[in-house]
Amino acid sequence: MKKEFATNLIHKGEQNPDSVSKPKTLPIFMTSVFSFDDVETLDSVYEGHSKGYIYSRNGNPVHDVLKEIMCSIDEGEDSQVFSSGMAAVTMSILSLVKSGDHIIADNVLYGGTYQFLKNELSKFNIEVTFINAVEDNMEKYFKPNTKLVYVETISNPLMEIADLPKISKITHLHNAKLIVDNTFATPIICQPLRLGADIVVYSATKYLCGHSDITGGIAVSNKELIKNIRNISALYGPMMSPFDGWLLIRSLRTLEIRMIQHSNNAMKLANFLENHDKITNVFYPGLKSSPTNKTAIKNFSNNLFGGMMSIDVEGGEESACKLIKSLDSIKFVPSLAGVATSVSYPVKTSHRALNDDELAKANISKGLIRISTGLENIDSIISEFDSALNKI
Ligand SMILES: *Cc1c(COP(=O)(O)O)cnc(C)c1O
Repeated sequence: MKKEFATNLIHKGEQNPDSVSKPKTLPIFMTSVFSFDDVETLDSVYEGHSKGYIYSRNGNPVHDVLKEIMCSIDEGEDSQVFSSGMAAVTMSILSLVKSGDHIIADNVLYGGTYQFLKNELSKFNIEVTFINAVEDNMEKYFKPNTKLVYVETISNPLMEIADLPKISKITHLHNAKLIVDNTFATPIICQPLRLGADIVVYSATKYLCGHSDITGGIAVSNKELIKNIRNISALYGPMMSPFDGWLLIRSLRTLEIRMIQHSNNAMKLANFLENHDKITNVFYPGLKSSPTNKTAIKNFSNNLFGGMMSIDVEGGEESACKLIKSLDSIKFVPSLAGVATSVSYPVKTSHRALNDDELAKANISKGLIRISTGLENIDSIISEFDSALNKI
């Protein structure tokens, strides 16, 4: 008998396992496409009469589970999952503006977002005015063609808190929409949709994942706005892979307990560093000395202020570099939000693209080090910073 290797290799084991028991967790639907019994079934899925999946760029079960989890904690109606935070940011922005429109954005934004707004959108004849969302009176920047206001809940790297209820009120008076990047806060600490935002976006690479092993992004909003985002995303194509989505689901199960521990550790570390004589300034929204501490208390839940802070080290660039070198288990990484405490150096990492003028305007000094407080025992984090600081 002729051996049909190829046919067997292709068709054996195609069915789901025959079993009276079910998997306790969601299996990974590692499939790019779904099959149909007949044309009517395909038609009814396309028309929305039957629930089903067609092609993973348009949807995969893992996306729906993530949507369900994120909508519940953000109190949104619908959501879209992406392969990176930048995809969530860019798709959300592009879903709201067209050539000839105007955007108002904070001048202290994640570096990639800032570059997209400044350099990329101008190619499409979309104008962006950068303002100081904490201090400026936003009112005077609106134009008849202003369609969008873009801010981050906690600014990076100075950790200032945008007053979202106030900003959303002005935005809506001018018939514009408000997008809030809530990456640093997460819904455990702040729920921007409840405070008036129209779309909330995340780099899921950071706290939502929390283990530094995938990149991802999420946008949460109402049904109508997500429908627009989903439609253009299917064309640009930055979808999250089923495997990364599966890891993200696992991470989200522990988001609350992680954010509580990140925040409690950070509060203790900030108090310690504020009293250290090698440090001239600590930027942490939970500290009374923070210019936006009152806004944080008003807008944040459960007296939690997150895991991110920055410190100004006495002696500028030289001291900052020495401190980074002297740290041992605390790694120098240009990202944040993992289980392990890490530091980054904004002038060389997240804000590398800014020239000296822009850095000065954003108040980012060369002695500034950003800390992502991890989940270790707080005493060991404090003693490692103490001995490294005493070496500079
Ligand atoms: C990291 C980050 C982004 C971009 O996310 P990626 O997952 O790296 O694409 C956007 N906004 C903020 C606040 C971030 O920290």
